[in-house]
Amino acid sequence: MNNIAILCSGGDVSGMNPALKHFVEYTKQNNLTPYFIYDGYEGLIDNKIQEASYKDVSGIITRGGTKIRSARSKRFKEKKYRQIAKDNLDAKGIDSLVILGGDGSFAGMDIFYKEHKIKFCGIPSTIDNDIYGTEYCLGVDTALNIIKTSIDAIRDTASSFGRAFIVETMGRECGYLALVSALTSGAELCLIPEKEVALKEYEDDFKTQIKNGRSYFLSIIAEGAKHSSSELKEWFEQSIGIESRVTVLGHVQRGGNPSIYDRLMAYKFINYAIDALIMGKDESVICYTNKGFVYKSIQEVVSQKYALDTKLLAYL
Ligand code: ADP
Repeated sequence: MNNIAILCSGGDVSGMNPALKHFVEYTKQNNLTPYFIYDGYEGLIDNKIQEASYKDVSGIITRGGTKIRSARSKRFKEKKYRQIAKDNLDAKGIDSLVILGGDGSFAGMDIFYKEHKIKFCGIPSTIDNDIYGTEYCLGVDTALNIIKTSIDAIRDTASSFGRAFIVETMGRECGYLALVSALTSGAELCLIPEKEVALKEYEDDFKTQIKNGRSYFLSIIAEGAKHSSSELKEWFEQSIGIESRVTVLGHVQRGGNPSIYDRLMAYKFINYAIDALIMGKDESVICYTNKGFVYKSIQEVVSQKYALDTKLLAYL
């Protein structure tokens, strides 16, 4: 193995740029030639593959997103386009890839490996933190910090003006962001997809709290929760009798200056990914567990669904 390439696939996260920077540094330290594949699997098919240099990564460590961009690719699901992708890699003598993405991207790469023997190592990257087998995915800490800053700002206005504030985070199937944010911001209510909540059960308690002097409420809701943000707003106004406002954080959670933790995790994930390929591991994903970093097979990672830590769930 002399030539090694990296690409970003699926939703981008903050932390990808620090990973790209260290990818160039660590491959060069190991006498390998680094390549960037621009625009994910789309770029692999369209031959947007270029040798990377220190110059390409200068000054990017502080920036969110990814300099080589990310994409979703319908074409990569078709065999004939994967053949084109393989021919493009062959032309540059590349037989090993590092993939920054989610389990969908890893599953696509696994098919590619089985067809064409292009080795890969996956680095879990999604702010949803919902990849089975790893406790941490790149980008989560930055997203949580952005949510924290937003909630803290909302609390300032909430405490000055009696209202119920509802903050909606990303998380269609996984409530990790909402749950951790609720826990660390002291929210009164948290709704996530993993748990059905009967709002009625909170009514007496919330009304009593108002009688006892509470002037505002803070609720965090994941976008995939059983109740929608507008239903929750309605409930606060009709059943609790307090004016309510909804803030949907949306894509602001995906951007922003990478946190120190994500910069450090990007560095470690890259070291482990390149080491795996140097050692000859062919289709692994680097997972961060209570035993530290471990390599898991793609089959193990895609075969099961991520479940929230029961100790965190106990907060609800
Ligand atoms: P994520 O990696 O964030 O889970 P997606 O599920 O959207 O994101 O997958 C990203 C890309 O991975 C898809 O656009 C597609 O190009 C590729 N991919 C996903 N599943 C497959 C598959 N079964 N076969 C080939 N490519 C796939």
